[in-house]
Amino acid sequence: MNEKGNISIHTENIFPVIKKFLYSDNEIFLRELVSNAVDATQKIKRLSSLGQYQGELGDMTIDVAFDEKAKTITISDNGIGMTADEVKKYINQIAFSGATEFVEKFKEAKDANEIIGRFGLGFYSAFMVADKVEIQTLSYQEGAAPARWVCDGSTSYEITEGNRDRRGTDVILYINKDGEEFLNKGRLQEILDKYGKFLPVPIRFGKRTTSEPDGEDGDGKPKYKSVEVDNIINNTNPAWTKAPADLKDDDYLEFYRELYPYSFDEPLFWIHLNVDYPFNLTGILYFPKLKENFEIQKNKIKLFSRQVFITDEVKDIVPEFLMLLHGVIDSPDIPLNVSRSFLQADSNVKKINAHITKKVADKLAELFRTDRKGFEEKWKDIGLFVKYGMLSDDKFADKAHDFCLVKNTENEMFTLKEYAEKVKDIQQDKDGQVVYLYTNDAAQQDAYVAAAKDRGYDVLVFDSPIDSHFVAYLEQKSEKTQLKRVDADVVDKLIPKAESKPLELTEEESKRAVELFEKAIDRTDMKVHVEALSEQELPVTVTIDEFMRRMKDMAQTGGGMNFYGSMPDNYKVTVNASHPLVKRILTGTNEEEQQQLAKQAFDLALLSRGLLTGNALTHFVKRSVSLIG
Ligand code: ADP
Repeated sequence: MNEKGNISIHTENIFPVIKKFLYSDNEIFLRELVSNAVDATQKIKRLSSLGQYQGELGDMTIDVAFDEKAKTITISDNGIGMTADEVKKYINQIAFSGATEFVEKFKEAKDANEIIGRFGLGFYSAFMVADKVEIQTLSYQEGAAPARWVCDGSTSYEITEGNRDRRGTDVILYINKDGEEFLNKGRLQEILDKYGKFLPVPIRFGKRTTSEPDGEDGDGKPKYKSVEVDNIINNTNPAWTKAPADLKDDDYLEFYRELYPYSFDEPLFWIHLNVDYPFNLTGILYFPKLKENFEIQKNKIKLFSRQVFITDEVKDIVPEFLMLLHGVIDSPDIPLNVSRSFLQADSNVKKINAHITKKVADKLAELFRTDRKGFEEKWKDIGLFVKYGMLSDDKFADKAHDFCLVKNTENEMFTLKEYAEKVKDIQQDKDGQVVYLYTNDAAQQDAYVAAAKDRGYDVLVFDSPIDSHFVAYLEQKSEKTQLKRVDADVVDKLIPKAESKPLELTEEESKRAVELFEKAIDRTDMKVHVEALSEQELPVTVTIDEFMRRMKDMAQTGGGMNFYGSMPDNYKVTVNASHPLVKRILTGTNEEEQQQLAKQAFDLALLSRGLLTGNALTHFVKRSVSLIG
């Protein structure tokens, strides 16, 4: 056997094209060749288990080796092998989809994955880093002769008799200038770790040194010696490929550490995905403890296809709100190597997305049902996912309604339904609207929280970055319900119970009161109103309008309302005409004393809001002393 021929494509220029277009991603040649070796190994195992191959399987380990001097990288398997005819059929015919189409389409292709996947060019990615590629192979079939195929990167090839005496295939790459970085142990190890860490067949990459117990020394202390062992780069049986029933919590935690050796936190809980209809998907998703800066925790989910690592960009497969999860997804049904827009339109991807959302919702519902206490303890971390999910996905929101929790200032937790029930009578206003009160900073808004509680009202705590959006969402989704931050108005007005008390002042008097206080306060960002509140209220209160404040909050956390974000705070100063101090100020005759008292009452309001600081605070204290005196 000695044959020369041409690879069946219609252009002479395909290899330069491959090299040029695929250059940026050229490390994937190793993923492709090792995957082929894994496939060939699994095929022979299958044939053996079906009784169609009677010979010994022998050691099935795949070897990756390199020779710096000879400038070669060799991938060897003991798989199915190929006959000379098969080499011609499988290797010489680039791309089942046809070379003509390839040549037309490569112009639009943006990255290597796209071309390689779409046109089945896995093997040819070798030419990204090699000038010459040689195959030495022996088919498993009885009486097969070893074959050798060589191609120098032009479209001509040569097939001659080979030298392999054991079943399987060696692929030898004669590395070119562009590929020299790969003639390096560290670099190869890195690529193998990245793509091959969980391949289903053991991959050996030379030897490594490790230490082994070696008896005891004179003092009875254990001794160690260093030994050379095979450097197996992969765990062939990762947790996600096992049945959930066979795994304990520790197995899941250990696998988490294997995935993220640099993460010191343990995940809160996990979901084992296992679907075979209408698509095939396995995986484990972990809920991590959230960090302050959770952006850096994003993009941790790794996507595999039959245990071959593909990417950690899972944006189109995992719903946005679950991007904070960690873990792995493995699916042969995700069209991995096609362009992004195609992926988004793919119906399998849509189904997978919906399925993951449903699974996550079901798991959360189950946790809540079976262990409410544990669920409440983890709420700080889970809550963010849940709220984000409710805001972004209606189907998820429907399910989450049952387990989404709110917490009040007493640290009690309620489901939305429980909470609605709790406050529906006492916090109903005169128009039948129920008002939920909340604080985003219980310490700073303490005076307002206390005033609300004095009335028997309950105050919720909404203090995470997503809460300003969640508040708006809750209001929109709950019938006849309004949400107000405790400092949005004086407590009488937060939940107006009856028609407001008639103002005991004439129009003339209240106009004078406004003037008097405006002069004493002397600030342009404060607008003064006079109202008849209850006598228990402070003489003067400073509040900030709920609507404006919420718009500003949302603009700050990325609600796209920048117009509001740039508005200054606008405070409302409410002078309580029913308060004895205010009465005294208004009926006073000594203008100087009136101003002093008005200023004092106003500062008191600022103080209770945490707004009185620095010099102003010092003045306040001095004024207090002189007034008492
Ligand atoms: P794909 O793997 O997507 O089919 P490739 O270009 O990588 O495309 O490989 C083409 C074909 O060559 C494979 O389908 C397989 O039949 C054969 N092949 C490649 N590598 C090996 C190998 N190591 N052992 C046996 N057959 C192989």
